[in-house]
Amino acid sequence: MICLGIEGTAQKLGVGIVDEDGNILANEGKIQKIVEGIHPREAAQHHAENLKPLIERAVEKAGIKLKDVDLIAFSQGPGLGPCLRVIAVAARTLSLMLKKPIIGVNHCIAHIEIGKLLTKAKDPVTLYVSGGNTQVIAYADGRYRVFGETLDIAVGNMIDQFARELKLGAPGGPIVEKLAEKGKYIPLPYSVKGMDLTFSGLLTASIKAAKNHRIEDVAFSLQETAFAMLTEVTERALAQLGKKEVLLVGGVAVNKRLQQMLRDMAKEHGAKFLVPERRDVLGDNGAMIAWLGILMFKSGYRQKIEDTLVKQKFRTDEVEVTWI
Ligand code: AMP
Ligand code: MG
Repeated sequence: MICLGIEGTAQKLGVGIVDEDGNILANEGKIQKIVEGIHPREAAQHHAENLKPLIERAVEKAGIKLKDVDLIAFSQGPGLGPCLRVIAVAARTLSLMLKKPIIGVNHCIAHIEIGKLLTKAKDPVTLYVSGGNTQVIAYADGRYRVFGETLDIAVGNMIDQFARELKLGAPGGPIVEKLAEKGKYIPLPYSVKGMDLTFSGLLTASIKAAKNHRIEDVAFSLQETAFAMLTEVTERALAQLGKKEVLLVGGVAVNKRLQQMLRDMAKEHGAKFLVPERRDVLGDNGAMIAWLGILMFKSGYRQKIEDTLVKQKFRTDEVEVTWI
């Protein structure tokens, strides 16, 4: 069985082709260049213009014909409404045209499942950190439950906004990581509330601190503070649940300092730290959507076209997990 998956919840468009053994036959992506933050309608326009050539490229890379595809999967949410609607329409069209089943999948769960596939994690506590999401998730009792999450902005978004405000460039993550290598610690607000996090106070304080501190020191301290917050919440979930694996996924997961903090924490708990080596599966991508589509389909899940309406606020724990 071969599944074609379409991702496009935000500014990244992705088409992935995966077989039922978990071989990634293609994982093509295109990102909308943005300077001043995402504009949903413009991002949707970008997706509409680029999806057809991207599908053709993915099919060619996979060495298959479009008619060899057995299943169409797409990101049903969470994400930006206009973007989601573009890919949903495309997925429905493909499904009707090829007369193949369609499955709308949860974007956050797709990140976890591709991470599990590539690291062979079995039952991890997952930290999912990206431009739009920040969640600590683990499987319990038939669902992926969110044990902690951001109450305001995502950690990746916080770093991007910081970089944008100081005119450092976009995306901010790799730029701030590089600057942080030469930085020293200055205190910045640390904000964990129960199992949840907030990043807007840290963002404001960091922008302010940049007025009278070296940018390297602010970059370093912003990372130390934000990543320590993330590690604290992940650690508590790990300890409370008694799991033995920590999985890191999402675009921010490539950050070496974050990886190191989580690795050290996991070690103290006798747990394994896992992060996929392939960078193209860490951020938003089509292969993860295709793989979750396969998992769901093989476990008997079916969807009618009329059930494929997009869900901008699609919650991770809304999905009944039938494949574990
Ligand atoms: P995603 O939303 O999963 O596509 O990931 C994009 C986010 O990852 C953006 O907010 C980037 O700034 C962030 N990112 C990319 N590389 C790094 C890095 N080296 N360190 C921290 N964040 C990063
Ligand atoms: Mg994502």
